[in-house]
Amino acid sequence: MRYRESGSLDASGVRDTRGRGGLRGGRGVAVGGGGLGLVGLVVVVLLQVLGGGDGGSPAGAFSGLGQDQTVDNSTLEENCRTGADANESVECAVVADVESIQDYWSGLLGERYARTETVFFTGSVQTSCGGATSGSGPFYCPADQLVYIDLTFFDQLREQFGAQGGLFVDAYVLAHEYGHHVQNLLGTNARVTPGESGPTSGSVRLELQADCFAGAWAHHAETVPDESGEPLIADITDDDIDRALDAAARIGDDYIQENLGSGTVDQEAFTHGSSEQRQRWFRAGYDSGDPSACDTFATDDLG
Ligand SMILES: [Zn+2]
Repeated sequence: MRYRESGSLDASGVRDTRGRGGLRGGRGVAVGGGGLGLVGLVVVVLLQVLGGGDGGSPAGAFSGLGQDQTVDNSTLEENCRTGADANESVECAVVADVESIQDYWSGLLGERYARTETVFFTGSVQTSCGGATSGSGPFYCPADQLVYIDLTFFDQLREQFGAQGGLFVDAYVLAHEYGHHVQNLLGTNARVTPGESGPTSGSVRLELQADCFAGAWAHHAETVPDESGEPLIADITDDDIDRALDAAARIGDDYIQENLGSGTVDQEAFTHGSSEQRQRWFRAGYDSGDPSACDTFATDDLG
């Protein structure tokens, strides 16, 4: 995958709270917490569910950021102007991903889709869903409707989880989080009981649907037009898809439990779905390109 060189980036989709010159500065801050804080994408489904429905106003969104978290997008605006920049820099790539993903959902849902930002942080962050550290991985907070990410997660995904990684994998991570935003907008969260777990739990269904939504975006990523009418993303290859599937497998509950947790698989503790399920639902979205193929709440067969 690559970004169209002349594509124009819009850094307003991102809020940079990393401090001046914070280009990937936060290495080493990945706080694991008690053994396994790093449950990969969206630990905060719990928070997500607890966060509940409202919080849609811009004022509400801003109140999510703690006082010590100043937004300063000047470095991003300076550095991330074109698709060529996105090809060179991870943070610019994320700016482009956020743009492409939201262009897709806007096109599909029209006024039902409300654009929202991704917050870059290092180490820890205050949100309307409470405080979080990098160790939790990227997450979506429904109460302020923002996606949060410490970009060092992409390194962690390779180094700790052993994923192959790559630009498309990073985009998949973002697309998964925006999948949670779509669920929030559509009221799907309400179908999940806070704190539940298990192989057919609402939590797992919500996560697998977010994977499927990510796949649906990926299916259209090369054609969805940006503001200029051209797609931002080009050349998604079979290798990219393989890498996304590889990443999906490494953030499956069973993989994490076996390799980064207790060493034993406990299905009753599943919150995100098994490796195989996560792959299957990403594929379901990718192959069909149709979010209506992602109704994980309607099926008895989650894979
Ligand atoms: Zn998730």
